[in-house]
Amino acid sequence: MNPFVYNGLPARVVFGHGTLEQLVDELTALNCSRALVLATPHQRDQAQAILDRLGDLGVGIFCEAAMHTPVEVTEQAMKVVGELDVDCTVALGGGSTIGLGKAIALRTDLPQIAIPTTYAGSEMTPIIGETEKGLKKTQRTLKVLPEVVIYDVDLTLTLPAAMSGTSGLNAIAHAVEALYARDQNPVVSLMAEAGIEALARSLPVIARNPADAQARSDALYGAWLCGACLGSVGMSLHHKLCHTLGGSFDLPHAETHTIVLPHAVAYNESAAPEAMQRIARALGTQSASQGLFDLARAVGAPQGLCDLGMKEADVSRAAEIALGNPYWNPRTIEGPAIHDLIRRAWKGERPRVG
Ligand code: NAD
Repeated sequence: MNPFVYNGLPARVVFGHGTLEQLVDELTALNCSRALVLATPHQRDQAQAILDRLGDLGVGIFCEAAMHTPVEVTEQAMKVVGELDVDCTVALGGGSTIGLGKAIALRTDLPQIAIPTTYAGSEMTPIIGETEKGLKKTQRTLKVLPEVVIYDVDLTLTLPAAMSGTSGLNAIAHAVEALYARDQNPVVSLMAEAGIEALARSLPVIARNPADAQARSDALYGAWLCGACLGSVGMSLHHKLCHTLGGSFDLPHAETHTIVLPHAVAYNESAAPEAMQRIARALGTQSASQGLFDLARAVGAPQGLCDLGMKEADVSRAAEIALGNPYWNPRTIEGPAIHDLIRRAWKGERPRVG
């Protein structure tokens, strides 16, 4: 066994079908009685239903959560927190809503209950990225880690098939990079392999039948494991590229992850053979990168960054930005190869190993 350091993160996780029933008990156990329910405008009705369920323990809803946690939205939410004398937040939704709960916790230390309804995994991480004047700043602090996470499989049934596929591949990306992280450790690697396996098995089933309860349960279980990987160890090339592409060209989060992942894995394939073997085993394929590309096809995800509206002329600029920001990766970052990687991802070609 190689030497390692393992840091357990302090989060309470409640998982199952119908676990929303336990919200009042969880809130009471936190000694809270003035909850503000957070959501996006799209999930307003669900937020209202949660407020109704909370009865006297809920004081209001705030349904303006948006992608990349804009500081202006957080400031509006902070006014509501003050006016209603809120003592905890309940974030119902994907990474955008959970990000808002984290932004409030960063400023107030208020306890958070997260109820994830996508597979993005933010609920399991002490990471927050906030956007101000077009710039996204990311930091890691335990202040933003939700105290309680309620995974209710039933709430994921409404996640549309297309979003389920890309959100699931976004989750897989966390586990893939955990397997070749510089600070990898055996516990997180076990979670990573099991997370990839659960999602790779369930996502194609969900693409055909979004109401399949067993597949939904497997996918959410996988998403939890993958989110825990993101929260525990450092990420490499793939996450840096997606950060660059999302931030500089305003590309959608989950779709960008889905398209770039097979190419980033192909780039690293020769430098991390043991990780690649584990990824391929979890996918049930011979090759990690080709298996991820085929999985993205099986769930009907967009194939190229061109399909997301990125211009061909931006390929070189994306490569320049990625190269101008040095970071650790199992394989040295080489200019021409990174340019070729982004060009292939832009076109939607099969990833090339080597
Ligand atoms: P999202 O939260 O933006 O959700 C996308 C849309 O889907 C929203 O309109 C939402 O209301 C809707 N939706 C969510 N669940 C639904 C459901 N079950 N049924 C119907 N509609 C539903 O998308 P996301 O991909 O979950 O999150 C992306 C954001 O999260 C990005 O800003 C990303 O940077 C952030 N993120 C942060 C971390 C972290 O650790 N800090 C990790 C992953 C993602």
